[in-house]
Amino acid sequence: MPSSQAEPFKIKMVEKIKKIPRKERKKALKSAGYNLFTLSSDEVYIDLLTDSGTGAMSDEQWAALMRGDESYAGSRSYSRLKETSREIFGHRYILPAHQGRGAERVLFPLLISEGQYVINNMHFDTTKAHVELAGGKAKNFVTPEAYDTSNYHPFKGNFDLEKLEKFLVETPRNKIAFIIVTATCNSAGGQPVSLENIKAVYNLAKQHNLRVVFDAARYAENAYFIKKREEGQSHRSLSEITREMFQYADAFTMSAKKDAIVNMGGLIGIKDDEELYNQVRSRLVPLEGFPTYGGLSGRDMEALSTGLQEGLDYDYLQYRTGQVEYLADKLRENDVPVQYPPGGHAVFVDAAEMLPQIPYHQFPAQALANALYLEAGVRGVEIGSFLLGRDPETGEQLQSPLELLRLAIPRRVYTNNHLDVVAEALINIKEYAGELSGFKFTYEPEVLRHFTARLKPVQQR
Ligand SMILES: *Cc1c(COP(=O)(O)O)cnc(C)c1O
Repeated sequence: MPSSQAEPFKIKMVEKIKKIPRKERKKALKSAGYNLFTLSSDEVYIDLLTDSGTGAMSDEQWAALMRGDESYAGSRSYSRLKETSREIFGHRYILPAHQGRGAERVLFPLLISEGQYVINNMHFDTTKAHVELAGGKAKNFVTPEAYDTSNYHPFKGNFDLEKLEKFLVETPRNKIAFIIVTATCNSAGGQPVSLENIKAVYNLAKQHNLRVVFDAARYAENAYFIKKREEGQSHRSLSEITREMFQYADAFTMSAKKDAIVNMGGLIGIKDDEELYNQVRSRLVPLEGFPTYGGLSGRDMEALSTGLQEGLDYDYLQYRTGQVEYLADKLRENDVPVQYPPGGHAVFVDAAEMLPQIPYHQFPAQALANALYLEAGVRGVEIGSFLLGRDPETGEQLQSPLELLRLAIPRRVYTNNHLDVVAEALINIKEYAGELSGFKFTYEPEVLRHFTARLKPVQQR
């Protein structure tokens, strides 16, 4: 963000945060088993664990809460959500869900038969889990540029179209369930997908008689990047771009905890397939709730409708993506290796490059996450081999292609002064990075170990 540009809001309510002393941070890490998920939030000063559900609602959203209609059926708040979503996305059928994974759980089993492939630029973890729970096999076709952290590419979330087409040609139609486009591509670092790429994927899908489903959590950040980076798009409004993006989707699932800036919520959209809509609606009832609330209170739906509109505001998105860029630039200027360009919601520090002495099976990005917490009370999250886990057959630790420390920026929550603290801490760590050591397990659960595992340093210094 240019230095003369300030936040497009002023602050009406504040929440106190506090940095506990270093000695206490050290103790907290130890009792958390060196797993930052286990820390209590009071032990964290600046929390960059996730941008999911951690955003600050606006005065308009808080006011909207009071207008919530809590009727079980036919809620006015549902009507508003449906109309707002129709207007933004152009999909005829809209259903609420309690969050993104709730939407996935309702929709996916209707589209997947046992053993079929589900194609994605890159599956988000709950998305992959719901594909597999429905009997599907998750396959990723993201462009190889996504794995090159240091070279600029405007759309590192794009599909590798050649590889995709080859797969579609060589694989019998009945072996493929559908194609998911994740925009922005969370697991590739919040990297955007170009409109051209989205359109090409849709056209390929139609040639092969396949549905396209958007995993649309960060639709607005993606639309913003299209406007800023794609040729011929700069004159178009974010609404126009969003409408076009969603034309190339037969349906979407959305976690509203990201770009729609609510603390909880999700959506399912279906463009025009009435039969699919009827099936989804029937499944929604036992899993999420009656179709006009789907796991949300009336007031939640009001805040969500307002959030969907605010999330597409140009000034807001310029500030939002600018803040992520601000942190990334500050780190780059000081030779802290980060993914470049940064994505829409987070900065990714290349821990393999920063801590080359730590092998992947001792989790360099986890070591960096620990160091950052100890240095400044800042919580990030490891995205690397610790997250990836073991080969289910051999039990061997897999090596992730990237060992990243993710610093996710909550929406409208921290100022650039907070980010200065984060940058300074990482710049300090660079000075003693060579002395940091890796981690090993003291407790390793079999599933989703990232959240609950306990670790200890390989060498106690
Ligand atoms: C967060 C997210 C989900 C899951 O949504 P929840 O609201 O956390 O259940 C799915 N896909 C993507 C791309 C996400 O970022």
